[in-house]
Amino acid sequence: MTTADRTSGYFNEKRETMPQEERRHSLDGKLGEFVQHAYDHSRAAREKLGAAKIKPGEIRTIDDLQRLPITTKFDLVEMQKINFPFGGFEGVPLAEMRRIYVLPGLIYEPGEWEYRDTRWAEAIYACGFRPGDIAQNTFNYHMWPFAFMLDESLKMLGCTTVPTGVGNTQMQVTIMHHLKVTGYVGTPSFLMSIAERAGAMGFDLRKDFSLRVGFVGAEMLPESLRVRLEGGFGMTIRQCYGTVDVGCLGYECVEKQGMHIPDDVIVEIVDPDTGKRVPDGSTGEIVATNFNRTFPMIRYGTGDLSFFSKEPCPCGRTSMRLMKILGRTDQVTKVRGTFIHPWQTDELMAKYPEVDKYQVVVTRPGYADEMTFLVELADESVDKAVLKGKLERDIQEALNVKGEVEFVRRGVIFDKAKKIEDKRKWE
Ligand SMILES: [Zn+2]
Repeated sequence: MTTADRTSGYFNEKRETMPQEERRHSLDGKLGEFVQHAYDHSRAAREKLGAAKIKPGEIRTIDDLQRLPITTKFDLVEMQKINFPFGGFEGVPLAEMRRIYVLPGLIYEPGEWEYRDTRWAEAIYACGFRPGDIAQNTFNYHMWPFAFMLDESLKMLGCTTVPTGVGNTQMQVTIMHHLKVTGYVGTPSFLMSIAERAGAMGFDLRKDFSLRVGFVGAEMLPESLRVRLEGGFGMTIRQCYGTVDVGCLGYECVEKQGMHIPDDVIVEIVDPDTGKRVPDGSTGEIVATNFNRTFPMIRYGTGDLSFFSKEPCPCGRTSMRLMKILGRTDQVTKVRGTFIHPWQTDELMAKYPEVDKYQVVVTRPGYADEMTFLVELADESVDKAVLKGKLERDIQEALNVKGEVEFVRRGVIFDKAKKIEDKRKWE
């Protein structure tokens, strides 16, 4: 990493290039105090330590964390039913929350009053955003925290943000052109929609736009799509990895050799069955402990599978890297940026006695996901057009993603067929 690459002045350069042992030491140093804060202020954290018969003072190093169980999204949902509305996960009183975010399934998440988490900023910087860039943030500003987190992070870097949110593709194209936007923030598939629409509107991607960098996330980035977009706009595209519950957990640098783990978070790769750490290089579940005092997470299991590399990266950053997201520990599938769980589709279909069997098939004919519900009927004499209309409306409402219903002959869906069959290829 050259000095010129590190001139923003925002980050502590020494930390990103410090030896791995030293970084570990500095995280150990913060962990004890953080666990104590969580224990003192978050009922969920107190119960978690209590159930494991551990006192907060006993968690002093990253290794000590292994004595604690993993918290999952399911735990969050279940705890919220008991301790409404945050499940006891909040680490500050309500009056100290700037926002209350609403996640799918009506899960409430407290937002900190002052956003000081630098992890997304670190990621956006590594992607190539610099002071003076004009960023079009096309992530949804509605209910979710992600767009706000990135918005704050762009400010930390000295970038100007156009908060467009998602949708209105034609308007987004015009805004991008008018304002000479230099940075795109959003999903890769939405940037592809923008490119296609711009082409249809008669624009030349290189001549009429000023896009230089793109920070993408929330869905897989196929290499072919990256190449196409980078070539089309003449820009650099880098992806990030994280969740709205624990924040940024990884980002690509210019070298795009896996995803660097940002400072200020502890990421472990564990055996999903035992919760114990696996040797470096082995595959396991990504588990994170952040230092968010408003919404403290201690060993939060993301459900995503990956493996670490400790090899040095040519960019100069010494952090470990997540090499690839390999899939999920549960059967959840992400369609158009939204998680679809088998229990959600089961619940939906259970309302229809006409439906004997079903299977969800996810494909990707171009660069956008398509979800089809194959349905075998219990009674062939029903009005299929009416049923199809009802089902499709319900799917959109319950899952927040459009799905098409296709009636198939009996016997087409095997008895042991996966409930959600993902047929997408990510080349
Ligand atoms: Zn790197």
